[in-house]
Amino acid sequence: MAFDYDLFVIGGGSGGVRAARVAAAGGARVAIAESSRMGGTCVIRGCVPKKLMVFASGYREMFDDARSYGWDLEDGAFDWPRFSQHLNSELDRLEGVYRNLLKGSDVEIYDTRARLADAHTVELADGAKKTAKHILVATGGRPVRPDMANAHLGIVSDDIFHLPELPKRLLIIGGGYIACEFAGIMNGLGVEVTQFYRGAQILRGFDDEARGLVAEMMREKGVNLHLGTNIVEMARASDDHTASWTGTQSDAAMGAPAGERVGEDADGGGSGPVWVKATNGTEAVYDAVLFATGRDPNTEDMGLKEIGVEIGRRGEIVVDDYSQTAVPSIYAIGDVTNRVQLTPVAIREGMAFVETVFNGNPTPVDHHLIPSAVFTQPELGTVGLTEEEAREREPVEIYCTSFRPMQSAFAGRPDRVLMKLVVSKENRTVLGCHIVAPGAGEMIQLAGIAVKMGATKEDFDRTVAVHPTMSEELVTMKTPMRVA
Ligand code: NDP
Repeated sequence: MAFDYDLFVIGGGSGGVRAARVAAAGGARVAIAESSRMGGTCVIRGCVPKKLMVFASGYREMFDDARSYGWDLEDGAFDWPRFSQHLNSELDRLEGVYRNLLKGSDVEIYDTRARLADAHTVELADGAKKTAKHILVATGGRPVRPDMANAHLGIVSDDIFHLPELPKRLLIIGGGYIACEFAGIMNGLGVEVTQFYRGAQILRGFDDEARGLVAEMMREKGVNLHLGTNIVEMARASDDHTASWTGTQSDAAMGAPAGERVGEDADGGGSGPVWVKATNGTEAVYDAVLFATGRDPNTEDMGLKEIGVEIGRRGEIVVDDYSQTAVPSIYAIGDVTNRVQLTPVAIREGMAFVETVFNGNPTPVDHHLIPSAVFTQPELGTVGLTEEEAREREPVEIYCTSFRPMQSAFAGRPDRVLMKLVVSKENRTVLGCHIVAPGAGEMIQLAGIAVKMGATKEDFDRTVAVHPTMSEELVTMKTPMRVA
């Protein structure tokens, strides 16, 4: 059968675009459909704008520190509209780069939504049908709000980049990557940030001591972090209700009209103060509530189940090690498979797909020892096992140090950093490396190479320190803090 294309990619995010380009560069006839902006979550509403906001928010401390370093500076204010405009033009530029890369590789672009009609056919929003020998689903994910009344009054991470102005008081719900990163960003930009996390400590799944220090530093920098706390009710606050308060039930009754306490409010999210009641009994009014409560795979109304693609419990596409679905001509990569929700992983999966399907070289995706960073302030960089995971598996030695880094200590700030190595007692392999420090994302990329290569503690020790740096501590820790 003659197909219109060798490959049709649904979804123009990092993974889909990479797979399309690489397949086309190898001579395949490729098309890609994207219903929103080319670049996907990472470029348009995720990693890239977020990181630029991290940079923007860091200047406040830098200006303060600069005075300690002898600079004569006047107090200035942050201009959100100016930054936002610059941010949006940068995103336009990046989207253009993505488009040009696709065009340069002769990939045909359809700026429309696409769904599956059968194992080899994609149906576009206007009803047009395109056939392909292989179809790659790379539709990513989307932020989800909790299932509660009036949840639509809250915003999600996608909305942050389009706020007409910064809220004065922001409540963030969640304790994962997005919640913690935006708590730091907004706090740095001068927003009064309260964060509720339902668990005992933020950043579940990361090393306990590392996330403990991140939480302490977030609090020290001004984030009002409440652990073991969640939102129970929310409603549009009345106009005379501008002050935050922690009150009794009768206070709350005065402030939050009974009719607004339950049931759905007709207003859209983010368009006025919101009254919130928490599980700890407190009630307060915020200018915005950000739900950073996880992301779901984009598999709804895609025609997937109908044609036999297996969908998992969280709505994800179930794939094998080669990203192949239950329908042999259909593959899926990236967040829509809910394996590891990280851009570089989606890109890897896209490359492995092309290698497997178009280069005749079956390549499973290696999800082992993925370094990653949470862009909190300070950052958390991590690779390998946490101490808690490692000691469940085998006896380990823990090398750990915490100190005040030179740069901020000189400026009189109480910041602390943490460097930690989890080492196998039996064969001395470094099983995990955890860094909490400014620039930890940069450091863990490099430490990740050594850990991925299977470096031992002695390999680290043999490496001469780069002085004076923070990361030199990774090669100078001589005595284990404990054996676990
Ligand atoms: P996460 O899964 O990391 O965090 C979701 C948070 O919301 C958790 O703290 C979770 O609590 C909490 N939560 C879930 N449901 C509810 C609820 N009903 N009520 C209250 N709290 C709730 O998701 P994110 O949205 O932060 O990020 C999604 C993914 O995107 C990440 O897993 C990560 O892979 C990726 N990402 C990576 C970044 C990076 O590399 N720097 C940056 C941003 C995102 P609990 O822990 O109890 O389940």
